[in-house]
Parts: sequence; C-alpha cells; structure tokens
Amino acid sequence: MAKQKQRCSFCGRTDMPLIEGENGSAICPYCVQQIHALIDGQFDGVNNNEQNPRTANKAASGIQIDLSLDKLPKPQQIKAFLDQYVIGQDEAKKYLSVAVYNHYKRIAISKSNKLTGLVNQYDDVEIEKSNIIMVGSTGTGKTLLARTIAKFLTVPFAIADATVLTEAGYVGEDVENVLTKLYQAADCDLEKTEMGIVFIDEIDKIARKSDNPSITRDVSGEGVQQGLLKLLEGSVVNVPPKGGRKHPEQEFVHINTQNILFICGGAFDGIERKIAQRLNTQVVGFEASEQAQKIDKKDLLQYIAPQDLKSFGLIPEIIGRLPILTYLHPLDRQALRSILTEPKNAIIKQYQKLLAMDGVQLAFDDDALDYIVDKAIEFKLGARGLRGLTETVMMDLMYEIPQKNIQHFTVTKALCEQKITRANISQLKSLK
Ligand code: ADP
Repeated sequence: MAKQKQRCSFCGRTDMPLIEGENGSAICPYCVQQIHALIDGQFDGVNNNEQNPRTANKAASGIQIDLSLDKLPKPQQIKAFLDQYVIGQDEAKKYLSVAVYNHYKRIAISKSNKLTGLVNQYDDVEIEKSNIIMVGSTGTGKTLLARTIAKFLTVPFAIADATVLTEAGYVGEDVENVLTKLYQAADCDLEKTEMGIVFIDEIDKIARKSDNPSITRDVSGEGVQQGLLKLLEGSVVNVPPKGGRKHPEQEFVHINTQNILFICGGAFDGIERKIAQRLNTQVVGFEASEQAQKIDKKDLLQYIAPQDLKSFGLIPEIIGRLPILTYLHPLDRQALRSILTEPKNAIIKQYQKLLAMDGVQLAFDDDALDYIVDKAIEFKLGARGLRGLTETVMMDLMYEIPQKNIQHFTVTKALCEQKITRANISQLKSLK
C-alpha cells in the first residue's frame, strides 16, 4: 500500500509514504490530516462542547500552520466565519479580522523569503504588532469572538483571567502563567506557542484603583499592568512550563512574545461616564448643541477612545501596546432572539442535534422562543442566561424523551412558562 517515489496528488509531496488510490492517485499523511481537520470543522458547526478550549486547540496542535502569504485568510473571509457564530458586533468583527490578518501577515513576512518585488520596496518598514482591546458589557460576545477567531485560524489559543493575576510574589497567579496556558494549549511546542493567540479577559479589573498610587501597594492593579506590559510589548519571557509559582529549581521555557497576538476584553463598568465627561468637555462652542444631539446616549461605548481607558485606570504604556480599540454593542431583544437559533452552534440547534441522536425531531414554537428571550431580558440575564433558561425548559424533556418512543416533539410557550415559573429565579440568576 505504501509507496515511496510517487507524488501526493494533492500537495505534490514525495518525501512521505503515500496511500495509493485506484486510478494512480495518491495522498500523503499530511493531506489526510488536513482533510480530517476540514471534515471535523464542518461537523464542528453544531458542537455541544463549544465552551471547551481543548476543542479549539485540538486542531491547533495537529495541523501545520500554513503561513504562506497567498494562503492567509483575507479579512472578509475571517469576518464571514465570525458571522456564522457571533450575532451582530460588526465593528468588532471587522477590527478583529483586519488585525488578525495583519498580524499573520507580519509573521508570514518574517518567515518568508519569497516576497514579491512590490513588498520588497518596503523592506525597511517594520509592521508593528496589533494587539487588540475590546470593550463591551459582560456577555456580549468578547470571549466568543476571540475563541471563534482561534477556531478559524487553527492556532493555539488560551484564555486567561486578569482578575487572578497579581504582582510577582503576592497571593495569586504570576503574569507569566498566561503564557503557560498557551504553551500547554500548543502541546508544549514552542514554535506554535510563539504564533498563538491569548485572550486576556476582565482586563478592566486590573485598572489602577486610585489616582494616588502611593497610599497602599496596588498589587493587583498597576503592578500587574506593569507585568503584562512585558508580555504585550514583545520580549522573551521565562515561563514556568507547568505553571504555578516561579521556583529557582524549576526549568523555564523562554517564550518570545513578539508574534503572539494578545486580545484583551473587559466590561469597563462605568466607563460611559468617562466617555460622557470627555464628550461634554469636547463639545463646546458654536456647534455644541447640534453635535450633542447627534450623540447616541444609549450606546456611549461606540465613542470610546484611548484616553477613556486611561481615565478608567489603565496605564498609558498598556494602552499604547493595545493599539486596536474596539467595542461591542449591548444586545437588544432582536439580537438575543437571533442568538437563540441562528449561530452555527446555537443552543436550540444543540438540543435538536442531541435529540436527533435519539431519532426525535425537536421543534420550538416561535412564541416559546420569544418567551425565553423575554425572561432573559426580565431577569437581566443577557445572552449567557439564554442557555440557562433553555436548559431549565429542556432538563425534564431530555430525561424523558429518549424513552418515549416518539418521533416529534414541539416545545410550546405554555411548556416554557410552566418550567421557568417553577424554577427558582435566584437559581436562574446564578446561571448567568
Ligand atoms: P463576554 O466575553 O463578552 O462576557 P461571552 O463571549 O463569554 O461574553 O458570551 C457568553 C455567551 O453568550 C456566549 O458563549 C454565547 O453563547 C452568548 N453570546 C454572547 N454574545 C453573543 C453574540 N453576539 N452572538 C452569539 N452568541 C453570543
């Protein structure tokens, strides 16, 4: 079956044992792996395990990352992929798509010596790293965006929570542990780690607590920002490969962060006030009232500017290292309704898939879905609450239906009312 000198019909490789087809065609293990990943990706659409970062990283560790310039996905392709999973948030999607594209172009350029004449003209121009900061209320899709991007690019991806980070030597996690996660996600492959993406959630929680840093030591604020700066600006960082505290006897891996893309996210609760203050002071003089009228007061985040992050307590150096600033809209009723059914991985589709495995076709009445959305709004549960509410409705059904010997089941509004009314509201809130 294996044959040495023949070419792979897909990529032309001759340096691997090939699997021969019937009509003289052949395929190499690398292409088999690629096809496998492609098929995995297709069926990944409705994936009951979306929250598990391992799923996103499985592909990352298996596939060779192709960084040839002509193979890089274009921003519109990246956005089209994001559209399948994330509802709305067009600005953030565009910013992310362009930033990620540019980021990988930088890496491609540094790895490729076959650049076109046109690019060669700009030999002295260094493309700077484009780390990203996304500002938006909790549950509006920041993590989902970062996770989906990583899924598309099949690079190692890690999520770190800024709230647990403290300055070295204090109780909490050292900043370097952020990279440990990425290293582990890349199956301890240093080269892949150095091209990965890290999402740092809740970056707003390490804002400086007060304007006067001398009163007490701000070990979880400015100190952590200083530590993070080292990672963001692109340097070689000593990382404990198994995480935990830095011990002198532990061997470190030296990770160069120059090509690691950092995406930060935060709710920045109350930043609207800073934005409003700035807009008020800016809007003075002749055209003031006209301009003030144009400001959409319900969604002030769209006017966010780097100086607002500074007023909130991020140090200017960090802000400078996060040059791409974008925001997410609050989710309205229509967006919540779409989230329930439209994304490739929508919660309703997940239940339909689960019951289809028992041979049961599951349907939801429109007013049943509207009711779930209404309750999410009423209890202020946001998009995250949609899952909890749907689970509340579905739990007993998932228990009973598999043994009922039926082929169809329709979830009605009355059923949703009955299940949700019976559920403990405080329990529902904890699902948020
Ligand atoms: P954030 O990071 O902004 O706090 P997440 O991205 O973790 O919020 O969102 C929580 C969950 O809510 C997601 O896993 C997803 O199920 C749902 N969700 C939030 N925003 C969106 C959106 N814009 N499109 C689709 N689903 C969303």
